[in-house]
Amino acid sequence: MESHNDITERELESLRGDLSHEVFPCTIPSLKFGTCVMEFIFEWGRALKAENRTNFQKEVDVVVVGAGIAGISAAHALQKSGLSILLLEAETRVGGRAHTQQTEGETPCDLGCRWLHNATVNPLCSLMEEQGFTIERSLGNLYYASGKQWLSQEESRKLISEQTRLWHHVEAAGRRRRDVRVSQVLRQQGRWKGLFRYSCAVHTGCDVEQASVQDISRYEDLDVNWLVLDGFGAFVETWSEGLPIILNQPVHRIVWDSDGVSVESRDGVVKARAALLTVSIGVLQSDAIAFEPALPSRKQDAINGLTMGHLEIFVAEFTENFFDIEENSQLYIQSADGSTIGYLVRPGGQNAVAACLGGQVGQDLLREGKTAIERFCLDPLSKVYGTNVHDYVKRTLWSEWGLNPWIRGGMSASAVGNAEQREELARSIKDRLFFAGEATSAHAHGSAHGAYQSGVESARHLKALLS
Ligand SMILES: Cc1cc2nc3c(=O)[nH]c(=O)nc-3n(C[C@H](O)[C@H](O)[C@H](O)COP(=O)(O)OP(=O)(O)OC[C@H]3O[C@@H](n4cnc5c(N)ncnc54)[C@H](O)[C@@H]3O)c2cc1C
Repeated sequence: MESHNDITERELESLRGDLSHEVFPCTIPSLKFGTCVMEFIFEWGRALKAENRTNFQKEVDVVVVGAGIAGISAAHALQKSGLSILLLEAETRVGGRAHTQQTEGETPCDLGCRWLHNATVNPLCSLMEEQGFTIERSLGNLYYASGKQWLSQEESRKLISEQTRLWHHVEAAGRRRRDVRVSQVLRQQGRWKGLFRYSCAVHTGCDVEQASVQDISRYEDLDVNWLVLDGFGAFVETWSEGLPIILNQPVHRIVWDSDGVSVESRDGVVKARAALLTVSIGVLQSDAIAFEPALPSRKQDAINGLTMGHLEIFVAEFTENFFDIEENSQLYIQSADGSTIGYLVRPGGQNAVAACLGGQVGQDLLREGKTAIERFCLDPLSKVYGTNVHDYVKRTLWSEWGLNPWIRGGMSASAVGNAEQREELARSIKDRLFFAGEATSAHAHGSAHGAYQSGVESARHLKALLS
């Protein structure tokens, strides 16, 4: 994945260290020297690759930290209201967790968001269509298989209603006063409990033993999901055109007081009347950005009360179409040990599958590496189709969000009892430090539209304050 290549080996090493101390040690002196040389080349390559769209201004009204969906939506709204802005982005590309891998001659492939959730009211739909992007509204079917055995339509219908009942049960528990873990309210899960476990990990980034029922029930879900065929990340890139963004510019220190802020990044210092932080909760929890003075304890408690769930995407393209199901279908396969995996099959008619891996499974596979990931994702397909699908693989892609120091996981989740900390995270501090991003969204957290709305909302506050 491109963003993986864009970070220094040292940063990677520290993240891998978080995952495992055994898998990636580098103690051989010549290798260490090699790493230093690589780092130099890497940094130089980064600087060359980053195409900036503005000069480094020394003074603006608002500095926006992070050019993901939240940062870009805020920047558009702020620019429209006549305020001067500057976006500082750590990566050599915009988009954050909206990232389309675009290799010449290959079909664009999303390694982050791809679905437009709550699509009938999702403001990103009209923006995409205005920019000429294609949205697929009619999807294929849902298919289920257990081992080699496909479920009949009747069995599938039963399974769907059983899973819906479980979700309603969790949501009802989440409306009670006391928050608990999902695992505490699940009793009869039936033969397909692996499927519920899988869905929970994919939707929240957490396993049932960690996920908060209140955080789940606060998410507003209309259950209308459309697909962006030309790439969600590609859209965000187009949408960001014309904004004053400086890439390859990690912010490492913010000094703030009642007069304003001073934002320090790789190449300098920008003074502003306010700063809007849109970085992930994983980045806020790391020591990547120092605040002077330190953030007030209520803000720090909000940051610590949330966590970064895990979500990774694996994509495999095949040389042949051995799927006998229609494009844009979803297929769930449960193995003999109960582990379950879901695929988006033939997105946009491509001979490909995209699989999401959330929670501990996603994290473990990240540590285990490419061969383990390919086996985990492709072996169930080989069983179902009775052929070694590995033989038909044209290319595979793997997101590695958990190894990216500017993201550090998949999406935010609340620890049990802390769902309301999202509102606290969203609050500004002394009208100088503002916070946006999916983690600050009370009812659309972990989503692209939640990130978008949070950016628009922060811009509205900033406009009222500074215009
Ligand atoms: C695998 C996966 C699949 C997903 N699928 C969907 C989906 O189908 N539909 C959906 O609605 N949502 C989906 N999501 C969630 C969605 O992608 C995110 O909620 C959304 O993109 C978050 O946007 P954001 O602007 O809040 O944060 P980010 O995208 O994280 O943007 C923050 C930006 O800040 C930058 N940054 C970090 N630190 C610094 C620093 N120190 N200085 C400067 N810049 C910094 C980062 O590089 C990044 O560009 C998915 C997420 C994942 C991981």
